[in-house]
Amino acid sequence: MTYSPAALIPWLTTLPKVELHLHLEGSLRPPTMLHLAERNGVDVGASSAEELTGLYQFGSFDDFARLFFTGLAVLRSAEDFADATAALGAELARQNVRYAEVTSTPITHQRRGVAAEEYRDGLNEGRRRAFTDHGVELAWVCDIARESEDPASEATIEYLLGHTAPEGVVGLGLGGIEDGYPPELFETSFARARAAGLASLPHAGETVGPASIWGALWSLQASRIGHGVQCLADPELVAYLRQHRIPLEVAPTSNVALKLAASPGEHPLGQLAAEGLRITINTDDPAYFQTTLVDELLLAHQIHGFTTEALIATQLDALDVSYAPEATKARIRHELAEVPPVAGPGSHR
Ligand SMILES: [Zn+2]
Repeated sequence: MTYSPAALIPWLTTLPKVELHLHLEGSLRPPTMLHLAERNGVDVGASSAEELTGLYQFGSFDDFARLFFTGLAVLRSAEDFADATAALGAELARQNVRYAEVTSTPITHQRRGVAAEEYRDGLNEGRRRAFTDHGVELAWVCDIARESEDPASEATIEYLLGHTAPEGVVGLGLGGIEDGYPPELFETSFARARAAGLASLPHAGETVGPASIWGALWSLQASRIGHGVQCLADPELVAYLRQHRIPLEVAPTSNVALKLAASPGEHPLGQLAAEGLRITINTDDPAYFQTTLVDELLLAHQIHGFTTEALIATQLDALDVSYAPEATKARIRHELAEVPPVAGPGSHR
């Protein structure tokens, strides 16, 4: 049964959802970006939301990287980080995302001269507002920026394990340029983080092949793989991921936007599901890729044949493999058990 967008979007919007892979720094939608740019006197190359949206039509990873770093410049004070986080909370609430694990990269802000205390206070305040004003629970994944740190990643680890860490950090991530910076370089950092009770949540197998995923599994003891879509090139790896039920944080529109898949139809999402892998569906950098979790689930249904039951299952799976408190998991599980069927005509294909 395939539903039209008109029938499915209202259902997807009210479906209680969980997102595990999105970046705070990639979530600044044009109105938020312009608001913060104006407050800080930063020129982002556009004066209206429409104009800024036009800039988001980047043609390459380099364009994306340039825009991403321009965007960072609007985040300076605790108030900026709080407003950005609260705006993300409002957007997630609009889609009924009930719980999200949001990645942020402390080192990139520290290198820009943002005081650790400002960053911490902003994240704490924004997370509080996301919950009290919008009812959305957020947790943080702080990630190492592969290319901008020494292999020991001391700066990120000291920050995370020190007194200036924000509240609600559940894991250590590994982001940035994958090619040339294999997981093995960061083994010590992840061992320290795991010893301190943080989950290992690296990006791997996004732009680099199976070796990167094996590295994340063996060297970093990854409990989930950010992206991981390149696993299909190695049947032994696919079998391992399936057998150990290692979740992949798949972000189809991101992969298409960054030219890792030629089109949504050529994205391996359907193949990953057919292999019996444990898949969660995510937006990655939703503002830049102009997507929402609702859009991603719609794509999974219409293009890759995920039934509504399968979509509900992806939310239950995301919840199970999240680091949400047990009470939160129980509440959202209960909400998911109450989801009504889609109201509207569908068609069998
Ligand atoms: Zn990511």
